[in-house]
Amino acid sequence: MKKVGILGAGQLGCMLADSLFKFGAEVYFYDTHKNAPGAFRTPHFFCGEWNDKEQLTAFFSACDVVTYEFENVSVELLDSIVQNTRTPLYPSAKVLEVTQNRISEKNFLLENNLPVCQFTPIFNKIDLQNAFQSTFFPCILKTATGGYDGKGQWKLNSIDEAKSLMPQIISEEKFPLILEEFIPIYKEVSCVIARNKKGETAQFPVFENEHRNHILYQTLLPAEISKEVEAQVQKIAKEACHKLNVTGLLTTEFFISQKNKIYVNEFAPRPHNSAHITNIACSISQFDMFARILLDIPISNSVLHQNFYCMGNILGDIYIKQGHSKNLNLNSWNQNPDIIEIRLYGKERAVEKRKMGHFIAVHNSRNNAIAAAEKLRKDLDAPN
Ligand code: ADP
Ligand code: MG
Repeated sequence: MKKVGILGAGQLGCMLADSLFKFGAEVYFYDTHKNAPGAFRTPHFFCGEWNDKEQLTAFFSACDVVTYEFENVSVELLDSIVQNTRTPLYPSAKVLEVTQNRISEKNFLLENNLPVCQFTPIFNKIDLQNAFQSTFFPCILKTATGGYDGKGQWKLNSIDEAKSLMPQIISEEKFPLILEEFIPIYKEVSCVIARNKKGETAQFPVFENEHRNHILYQTLLPAEISKEVEAQVQKIAKEACHKLNVTGLLTTEFFISQKNKIYVNEFAPRPHNSAHITNIACSISQFDMFARILLDIPISNSVLHQNFYCMGNILGDIYIKQGHSKNLNLNSWNQNPDIIEIRLYGKERAVEKRKMGHFIAVHNSRNNAIAAAEKLRKDLDAPN
């Protein structure tokens, strides 16, 4: 039985583990939290910090292959452990090196002639002042590393706003940063490409994503985009996957501008929140696809079933009312027949904006799928 290690025992790791179990693999988890959602799914749970070389080395040594559910682990450390233990890491540390830093990610796009917005790398106070003097407003300032779900980013509407943010950025030493032009977005979409060790790829349909407060609110399938845009998005995503030499999954997030221009926003070399919709909507889910790659099982394109699908995130916010925690009202599920999956991740504590779960609605029209999702959100939030 193949032993697959996953760095991070959150929801992505758990759903990947479910798929690995389906194919008869053994799963090993590593996480810093002893009560992480995956901690109780397998007898093979390693608890340690992300910089604990000894513990990480023991973990790699116990596994036949290792992957990760998030990107903020030291590339140098991982690389040296891979060299020492000879346990392969998929996707490789080289891929992480490019994708975990917004500056190297955008430089990669430039070097490979892939479409990217205008950006300025910022390494110190002088760079920051210069960037603010020469930029157009609105623009978006982001930390180069460590940001997710909109954390570590600021939308700036004017030079005055930019100036008043400066003291905080400098005192909290947020460098390196990147300043991006603000794209007037018509649609956000994402595309997952799977690539195996032989360099063969398989694709998923393109997902349409709606963000609120910089966090994914819902994903829709099929996306309301032209066949041409869909083909172009898949072509760019595939090219990036080959150029980065990914073994595993590469998710590419895109902006389609109001002028119908396509921009790559960012990459995630792992399963992606938007692709949870494939659990129900497609012939092969993203987690099954990834499991197949890790276990050397052949892959093929994942195709969309009939119907319209809407995947919605359940954030910590609805567990919290007037500062107190409350339960979700799951009694209402029987009045929501169009909901075919509600998955709660088993996190210990609800925190505002923390992803606690997701659900998937299905209907024979797009508007009805969206309406079913809205109704469930309301019902979950209703008093028990
Ligand atoms: P994260 O790592 O938090 O997902 P993103 O760079 O994807 O960071 O930003 C989160 C969201 O913020 C995007 O999905 C988009 O809605 C908005 N956003 C980010 N950058 C830009 C930009 N340059 N122009 C317009 N909107 C943006
Ligand atoms: Mg993003």
